[in-house]
Amino acid sequence: MIEIKDKLNCCGCEACANICPKHCITMKEDEWGFLYPKIDAEKCIDCNLCNNVCPFVNKYDASVISANATQSKDEEILKNSSSGGMFTTLSKYVVKNGGISIGAQYRNKEIVHTIIESIDDIGNHSGSKYVQSHINDIYIKVQQFLKNGKVVLFSGTPCQVNALNCFLKKKYVNLYTVDFACAGVSSPKVFSSYIEYMEKKYGKIQKINFRYKTYGYHSSTMYLKFANAKEYYRSRLTDYMTNIWTSYIAMRPSCSSCKTKGSNRSSDLTLFECWHFNDLTGVKDDNRGWTNVLVNTKKGMQLFNDSSKYLKIHQINYEKALALDGNTYYKSATQVNNKNRFFSSFNRNGLVSAVKKYSDINFFSYVKELLKPILYKTRLLTKFKRIFSSSRC
Ligand SMILES: Cc1cc2nc3c(=O)[nH]c(=O)nc-3n(C[C@H](O)[C@H](O)[C@H](O)COP(=O)(O)OP(=O)(O)OC[C@H]3O[C@@H](n4cnc5c(N)ncnc54)[C@H](O)[C@@H]3O)c2cc1C
Ligand code: SF4
Ligand code: SF4
Ligand code: SF4
Repeated sequence: MIEIKDKLNCCGCEACANICPKHCITMKEDEWGFLYPKIDAEKCIDCNLCNNVCPFVNKYDASVISANATQSKDEEILKNSSSGGMFTTLSKYVVKNGGISIGAQYRNKEIVHTIIESIDDIGNHSGSKYVQSHINDIYIKVQQFLKNGKVVLFSGTPCQVNALNCFLKKKYVNLYTVDFACAGVSSPKVFSSYIEYMEKKYGKIQKINFRYKTYGYHSSTMYLKFANAKEYYRSRLTDYMTNIWTSYIAMRPSCSSCKTKGSNRSSDLTLFECWHFNDLTGVKDDNRGWTNVLVNTKKGMQLFNDSSKYLKIHQINYEKALALDGNTYYKSATQVNNKNRFFSSFNRNGLVSAVKKYSDINFFSYVKELLKPILYKTRLLTKFKRIFSSSRC
């Protein structure tokens, strides 16, 4: 049976809990708010399925067939997506044709993987949520749908996609998987504390978008809409959750020792930010967001071609795209020294105290945040951004 000796070796994908025939694995939250498997040894029959399913043990070997920069032609999809709306375009195509879309959604202070069967709901999966999503028993459900002949589109982190494929063991023609270049996921416990803090301050949250194109794609913000119609837009300069994610301070330990990087992925398509659209295509960047898409399999190629009429597409050189925008395709998250101290402070005194002590938010951050709308209106923001650009989203 599985034993987690070092937290670096468990990404919390929940595949072991999904596969255990005796239901003796439960996912338990640790003091940082991340889930790890806990085994009831009394019920265990030593079948070893939990070890064999683990994506941090298994290996894949993806190779890129083609690479494109894409942007959705649908204004609503583009507006609500993190980059070019590639994922929601695929999702719309699959659901419209009778299939289902499985991806990460905000629900009741947490991020969870959900099933979407109606075209009216596809927006629930749009946008990156930089928090670990709870899988629950989704791999079991995917398997049932596949066996019943349903077309399934599954999107998730590379470790979740590998976990699903390890769980299924066999290839299904009716399954499409999409992952992304992944910088890592923050603690769900910190996130729910952030939501509680914001709701106390402003009111009940109705909508959340971690990457709203408030000042264009190159300068997005956290966006919250409250039941009382108030709206909130703040960048990493002063928004607690965005600052926490971009500084790696509350990231899952395994993300700094990720085993599902580079070609060790089993997805049909891999998406990542197209920060360097102009350099990659020679076409002027419209600052509305483009998604880089790597096609890894023939099945991925077929889905890409089928949904291409809903997209603007530029073929790109994948090595150049990865060199310019794909840092996290290969590289694990930076390990930061004061993570332990951040979590001790968070557990002792709460979110605000920990952020005040361990983030780089200060008086000048608030001044810069205030200047953003003016810089945006005078078009100076894009120029500043270009000078100080980074490959992280
Ligand atoms: C945690 C995380 C880290 C990322 N790190 C990078 C990075 O370092 N570099 C980079 O270029 N791109 C990164 N991305 C991908 C990037 O943010 C965009 O998602 C990508 O460019 C595709 O954009 P899109 O507009 O096509 O789709 P989007 O509208 O962004 O949709 C993305 C899809 O990803 C899935 N998803 C969202 N949040 C989660 C989650 N918490 N767990 C699992 N699946 C989720 C959803 O199902 C969603 O449908 C990351 C995304 C996430 C969620
Ligand atoms: S060895 Fe088998 S029975 Fe035991 S925990 Fe693992 S999957 Fe469950
Ligand atoms: S990585 Fe996934 S399968 Fe492996 S031990 Fe952790 S939760 Fe279980
Ligand atoms: S960085 Fe690796 S371990 Fe962390 S969520 Fe992404 S794929 Fe999983």
